[in-house]
Amino acid sequence: MPTSVTRINLMDLDESGLRAFFQSIGEKPFRAAQVMKWIYHQGIIDFDRMTNLGLDLRQRLMLIAEIVPPRVLKTQTSVDGTCKWLMGFGGGNAIETVFIPQPKRGTLCISSQVGCALNCTFCATGAQGFSRNLTTGEIIGQVWQAAKILGQDRNGRSRITNVVLMGMGEPLLNFDAVVSALSLLRHDLGFGLAARRVTLSTAGLVPGIDRLRDTIDVALAVSLHAPVDDLREKLVPLNKKYPIAELLRSCADYVGAKRKRTITFEYTLIDGINDHPEHARKLVKLLRRLPSKLNLIPFNPFPGTQFRCSSDESIRRFQKIVMQGGLIAIVRKTRGDDIDAACGQLVGKVLDRTRRSERIRQQRITNR
Ligand code: SAH
Repeated sequence: MPTSVTRINLMDLDESGLRAFFQSIGEKPFRAAQVMKWIYHQGIIDFDRMTNLGLDLRQRLMLIAEIVPPRVLKTQTSVDGTCKWLMGFGGGNAIETVFIPQPKRGTLCISSQVGCALNCTFCATGAQGFSRNLTTGEIIGQVWQAAKILGQDRNGRSRITNVVLMGMGEPLLNFDAVVSALSLLRHDLGFGLAARRVTLSTAGLVPGIDRLRDTIDVALAVSLHAPVDDLREKLVPLNKKYPIAELLRSCADYVGAKRKRTITFEYTLIDGINDHPEHARKLVKLLRRLPSKLNLIPFNPFPGTQFRCSSDESIRRFQKIVMQGGLIAIVRKTRGDDIDAACGQLVGKVLDRTRRSERIRQQRITNR
């Protein structure tokens, strides 16, 4: 047998992909359902243990296929119970995945890229540069690993009730792999999560939002961070390409297509930058006609950033103004900051191919 055969990772395939795969090897498509149940319901990835497949098929699968989740390289647990894993795929790249336990739910925050190609100025992941897209298997494999590690609660339910694509990367820049992973999260033979329990967060890639709207039903979160274009451009450079008016048009179409669904807008509060009462008033004008919810995130600092978190007083004042204006706004409690697991703090190990991390390091040295 040749030693260098490349086997297909069955975690890279969603249900339709798996059906096509089994047909391509002359098997009935229902094999897809059998294999998915083993992988995602039983947590079994060893063909030998998939007893309903028959010895002959199992042996063939072992030659041409494999089921490989990412490897856990490091585990950190916060005093508040938040867990962060460094997960690797070989080749030196690694990403971070975070589990946030709450009284009635457990949210898993997963990554979609190694690093990020966007350069949001207040985000630690952005400062690391970009290496590559994750495959479907590398995305869904984070959920598989976490589910396996966390086990079940006392009632035998999975401890992961919600999944958010809010880790490293811009999910809509890795559209196809992300959509297949979303479909495995939603599918009954996968993790079986309802649409409102799966949230994709984007920095505002308008064509991606429009495409997502027509592709799969999940909840959408949009990183807004500023109510006016000139300020938003400084925080989220992607705004130069897709300014606020265009972004909100796309958001309105999204909610229009998904009846009853609201959009979550994320707004990181940065001291003296976007936390003025005038910003809050402008935000009200911007969002009041959209079925939306505002998530106010106190800025999480990271080494080398020039930004600071808004004071408690400014945060409360900001929240009061937007709520009096009729918006639903919650201040997101910072979780896991003692292990750098909070929003915008995920860094993993990025073999930066953009040289951005190096440029930023140089700038810091010259600014000293
Ligand atoms: N690329 C996607 C997914 C990242 S989600 C997106 O931009 O939405 C992570 C969320 O945390 C985003 O809203 C992001 O803007 C925000 N964030 C990034 N850095 C942060 C920081 N240092 N403090 C608080 N929030 C931050």
